[in-house]
Amino acid sequence: MFELSPHATKADLLQEINRAENSLAELCADMIRCGAGSAPSDTRRCIAVVAQLMGQHGIPFEIEEPQPGLQSLLAIQGSAHGPTVVLNAHLDVFPADDATLWTYAPFSGKIEDGRIYGRGACDMKAGAASSITAFLLLASLAPRLRGRLVLMLVADEETGGHWGTDYLLRTRDDLHADACLIGEPSGTRALRVGEKGQLWLELSAQGASYHSGLANGDEPIFRVARAISLLHDEFVGRPGRIPSAMTPVIENSRRYAWVPEFAGRQWVLDHISVNVGTIEGGIRTNIAPRDCRASVDIRLPFGIEPDALTGEIKELFAKANLDVVVSPLLHTPYPATFTDPDDPLIHVATRNIEQVVGCTPDVIVNPTFTDARFFRIRGYPTVVFGPTPYGMAQPDEYVTVEDLLTTAKVHAGTAWDLLVEDPQ
Ligand SMILES: [Zn+2]
Repeated sequence: MFELSPHATKADLLQEINRAENSLAELCADMIRCGAGSAPSDTRRCIAVVAQLMGQHGIPFEIEEPQPGLQSLLAIQGSAHGPTVVLNAHLDVFPADDATLWTYAPFSGKIEDGRIYGRGACDMKAGAASSITAFLLLASLAPRLRGRLVLMLVADEETGGHWGTDYLLRTRDDLHADACLIGEPSGTRALRVGEKGQLWLELSAQGASYHSGLANGDEPIFRVARAISLLHDEFVGRPGRIPSAMTPVIENSRRYAWVPEFAGRQWVLDHISVNVGTIEGGIRTNIAPRDCRASVDIRLPFGIEPDALTGEIKELFAKANLDVVVSPLLHTPYPATFTDPDDPLIHVATRNIEQVVGCTPDVIVNPTFTDARFFRIRGYPTVVFGPTPYGMAQPDEYVTVEDLLTTAKVHAGTAWDLLVEDPQ
């Protein structure tokens, strides 16, 4: 399974992926099933499945676990004298929410009618299974690689990346990338070359508790509510400053309906958006609350830096005499990042999508973020290409087997062109 003969051609590679359809679908389903009974961030069982597969193929690998349960796996094949191509995927998932809302159990990995169901199916066990498949197939041709192929399966993507991709890139001197492919869900008619930045903040206010009959309108919940109103009025919809290389990419992105909810919200691509995700405080209707906390997710278009915006928010609250504390919720907030649409990686990936899917992909940016930012901020060209997401962050998440095969072929074919044959 997932092996090529020593003289295989690229056509053999794509044919082998077709032949491996059932194995590939089962690998994806197995990786979904690993989520049962584990915290969404705990990658150990999934890593164990991959480790077994690597063992069967005789491929050496390393496991890093910088925090309990947050395991990442690294495997490297080929020669250091040449370009390095990284296949990156995260193995952690969103929480499954209420199991009674699902048709099949959230971690069933049920395969039916060409679909694979379960939490993480599209985000991103299908991408991870594609990366593994591409890696194993090219690893079987290791003597023919004119550079290094790196498989990087990580934890902590959904919760910030500090202990996953970012950890590996900042602590390992042997890791860099001349090209990086990530199989996050993009839909198979698009190639993602950039994404918005993110700034997560907590707004908090403290006070004393007393009888509600004495409330004077300056209690912690009122203050946080005023702070939220100010954020809304001052920042929601503020335009970014778009680099000229990205202007046509933003235009493409407006037309690309990657999830149904995107309709009517295209403005988020090049403007600030703000989500107040949680708010908590107080214990009873007729007691003044002692405290209030709100978590806020601000997405930054190109040209707006997180530190500068944090400073502006603090200044705004100070000017309004608002006693609200602003604290960071991410280890590292990030600005928007992109890989130049003229980078060779974009051309190679585009050609492979054309060959496999039969159409020229829309080159787009996305309002959601991925671990691509950790590569791009270091100057490593990075693209995201993966399946169409169905039910992402909702019950009955699924991916189609067809999209899974397409993702595996595009990743394997792109890595082939970069490492096994000259793309010219
Ligand atoms: Zn993801």
